[in-house]
Amino acid sequence: MASASLPAGLVTREHLAAALIVFCLLAGRALFVLRNPVRRCHCLPGFARARCRRCRATGWKRRRGATAIHRFYWSVRGSAVLERRRDQLGALKEKTNA
Ligand SMILES: [Zn+2]
Repeated sequence: MASASLPAGLVTREHLAAALIVFCLLAGRALFVLRNPVRRCHCLPGFARARCRRCRATGWKRRRGATAIHRFYWSVRGSAVLERRRDQLGALKEKTNA
């Protein structure tokens, strides 16, 4: 166990459980924001919405952290796609050289 190497009494089982719960909540929130990056703006339709600066009259707002999460997601996905294409190109070159 990892807790065996920790100083006794400093980090208890309860601390680890709380940290695990917080991590799970943050991970769940990240997945939720990844699936639903926008939410309804609270401004009313009509004149108020036309002048709303938060949603620029669209009625939709990006959730907090949505841009950062999407940037991270696509930076990971993007490199995976590039690697796959590089592998395909390498295989094609080997085929043509042989
Ligand atoms: Zn608005």
